[in-house]
Amino acid sequence: MDQQLARLLKNALDATEIREADDRVYFKVGDREKEIQKDFPLVIQVETSSYCNMICLGCPQKDMRRPRLFMELDLFKKIVDELSNHKSRVWLHYMGEPLMHPRIFELIELAAKKLSYFGMSSNGILLTRDRIERILDSGLHRFEISLDSLDPGLLDQLRPGGNPENIIENVHEFFRVKYDRGQKYPITSINYRELKENLRETGKFAAYWKKILREPDFVLAFPYERFGGHESAEHATYTVPHERRACLKLWNKVLILADGRLVACDAMFDGQVVMGDTRNSSIKEIWNSPTYHEMRQKHLEGRADELSICNVCDSWYREIGPKDFRNLTSENA
Ligand code: SF4
Repeated sequence: MDQQLARLLKNALDATEIREADDRVYFKVGDREKEIQKDFPLVIQVETSSYCNMICLGCPQKDMRRPRLFMELDLFKKIVDELSNHKSRVWLHYMGEPLMHPRIFELIELAAKKLSYFGMSSNGILLTRDRIERILDSGLHRFEISLDSLDPGLLDQLRPGGNPENIIENVHEFFRVKYDRGQKYPITSINYRELKENLRETGKFAAYWKKILREPDFVLAFPYERFGGHESAEHATYTVPHERRACLKLWNKVLILADGRLVACDAMFDGQVVMGDTRNSSIKEIWNSPTYHEMRQKHLEGRADELSICNVCDSWYREIGPKDFRNLTSENA
């Protein structure tokens, strides 16, 4: 374990039950179990499309100034070639809808040949029968469908851009086809953002899907993300403590924008702070670069306020605070 990681765990996060095994470090922060891959990010999001067909409440897509793009096949191949040497969890989405990419199934095919674990998220608008079949044939390990409500009126308020009745029907159709085929993979979650607006519906939503979903599929609830303080706090269901901690994301996650630039966290949706460029560097070079070292050091020294975006961000708390990504289907069992 390098010095910065040791300092993060022991001093900055007060981690307990620290255990090293192979390329991983396992630990707990409070009662949350955590994991880091030594020397390489554990979670990598590759933005196959920065185009989106929705304008969701709380999503900064609407304010993005960087060009909308579909990731080029050659760049995707370069990234996937490097990732094939690691056991990271790779996701094929970030700020856009991946199913809009005209060659998404070629990208998925490449990923399926090379990666030990990869997944993708969709907002459900383009989930036609044909695409459902192709997703089920694709080799994806995980698939996520975002759905914040079963009430068409509320869904249209939270995720405008599609026909809410059609989206809800597409989600049902996905599971009908999957279960007719008797398939386990991709393990599929319905991703439910908890906002003030839908909080009263959460129990009903979970109970409804519990009757339909078969294990290992599940409903995944997660707290509203403010994208580095860009989005309003009025929808958030949690309160961030005044005293901040070092941001764990700097040790376990990267995002690669559709043009190949690498950013350190979800908050950098517009490429505000770029750590490197995968068109001319490897992810590993960027991950171990002086730029990253310096940013981590500032967090360790309690100087995150000196960093652009970090100074207004509360997303560090989502990683270690009491609100976590929760499996609602088993919670309501
Ligand atoms: S504090 Fe916020 S902006 Fe800074 S690295 Fe963490 S998530 Fe990103």
